[in-house]
Amino acid sequence: MKIFCIGRNYVDHAKELNNPVPSEPLVFMKPNTALLLANRPFYFPDFTNDLHYEGEIVLRICKNGRSVQPEFASRYYDAVAFGIDFTARDLQDKLKAKGQPWEIAKGFDRSGPLSNFISLENLKDPQDIHFQLKKNGNLVQDGHTRDMIFNFDTLIVYLSKFFTIQKGDYIFTGTPAGVGPVQIGDELEGFIEGEKMLHCAIK
Ligand code: MG
Repeated sequence: MKIFCIGRNYVDHAKELNNPVPSEPLVFMKPNTALLLANRPFYFPDFTNDLHYEGEIVLRICKNGRSVQPEFASRYYDAVAFGIDFTARDLQDKLKAKGQPWEIAKGFDRSGPLSNFISLENLKDPQDIHFQLKKNGNLVQDGHTRDMIFNFDTLIVYLSKFFTIQKGDYIFTGTPAGVGPVQIGDELEGFIEGEKMLHCAIK
């Protein structure tokens, strides 16, 4: 299985990190060893001093496809989950400055806590999903997928030009504004449409 991730897919987040707003999706990947399931705790790694949470809607691919046409794109995904794209911001900043790939800053072990999936049929508007992240009980991120620069269909079309998308692949679809650091002892909670989906304790 593959885990695609989209960077800078919300204008307000691109701006908070002083990044340009992209004209095409910014794609990177996490390996499957990045997944952290079943609300297991996250152990703070020793290679970073500036670990950031990025709360994201994660889309599940339900069908294999290549070069998917826009009118069929919605047939290729069926469910969403709440995920965190943990980022070692200090490492990422160093790599970005050198124009180097981000993988060690974003694809390290357990860098992708992920909730259970909800079928899109069970959401009132699959193209406008409300999601929120709380840190220690305080709301720090509050997003709506209608604000994505590249929506789910556009991401399917774009990714499938380069990669065969396969049933069981995931797409971390990007984070809205409000990213920030975590420390040992913090508790993160992710919500979709007000429903608690994910709990992650930093140990
Ligand atoms: Mg992200």
